[in-house]
Amino acid sequence: ARASLLMEVTGPGATADGHRVPLLANIGGPRDVEAAVMNGAEGVGLYRTEFLFLDRATPPGDEEQERAYREVLEAFPDGRVVVRTLDAGADKPLAFLPPPGEEPNPALGERGLRMARLHPDVLRGQLAALARAASGASAKLEVMAPMVTDAAEAAFFAGACRDAGIEYPGVMVEVPAAALRARDLAPEVEFFSIGTNDLTQYACAADRQIGGLAGFQDPWQPAVLDLVAMAAGAAGEAGKGCGVCGEAAGDPALACVLVGLGVTSLSMSAPTLPLVRAALARHTLDQCRAAAGAARAARSAAEARESARALLPVLP
Ligand code: PEP
Ligand code: MG
Repeated sequence: ARASLLMEVTGPGATADGHRVPLLANIGGPRDVEAAVMNGAEGVGLYRTEFLFLDRATPPGDEEQERAYREVLEAFPDGRVVVRTLDAGADKPLAFLPPPGEEPNPALGERGLRMARLHPDVLRGQLAALARAASGASAKLEVMAPMVTDAAEAAFFAGACRDAGIEYPGVMVEVPAAALRARDLAPEVEFFSIGTNDLTQYACAADRQIGGLAGFQDPWQPAVLDLVAMAAGAAGEAGKGCGVCGEAAGDPALACVLVGLGVTSLSMSAPTLPLVRAALARHTLDQCRAAAGAARAARSAAEARESARALLPVLP
């Protein structure tokens, strides 16, 4: 009993019946590594690289970038590190990557990979710095693009990564179109990572920065769960992994539901790792699947949460 309690606190992520679910950390730079390690992260599932440069007027230098990436890779010698290329625009504006024109709805404007395509030199520089940082590191580097909409964009990004010598390109699934046509995107990349924050914002047409819309900005919305199931299903059919790196992954009950929907890894802010690890360790994969089915059968976010929790009796 003591051994299993210890596993719950620090061990690798798994359900009670041993179905492995790697538990990873969301970070914004090397300074977040310590908390990730302390909370037992098996690696990094989302490195928000734009956080390194939020207060900058000029593009980051090559060597500075390489250092910031290498430091994180070296902290997880046996793990994976999923780095996201700059998600500039909308809620994360970068002074050196301004939108080309006035945007009345920045969340629907030039951001993420769209912005990168306007500045191919910045994207190439970042990918090259990542490739250099990974050479000689034993961690597995995976690189993903934010705000990807269709298969052509996924193919473009995978091509840019491979040209830079990066072997594991992936895409975030945070635009509903990408989830709905995940079967078209899956063959182009090595993995998906679902960004439930933006996926919820776009599925429910509710700006994530407007507090009054919090009822719609809820990843328990059954429509969001349907989109997650579509993306995870398409990835599974293509033999690719599908993680979740939005805030949803840090909700212990929802984490079980996501696993039941077919999600293969979970990445979250470090302090939430222990509770999610414990929730998974106390429920079987079948229980997670039953909770996922009940949540998808619900007609509202509140009902989804309630019916899933009823089938997950020993949440921490
Ligand atoms: C998301 O959209 O869910 C996500 C993980 O990315 P960010 O919150 O940085 O947009
Ligand atoms: Mg996002």
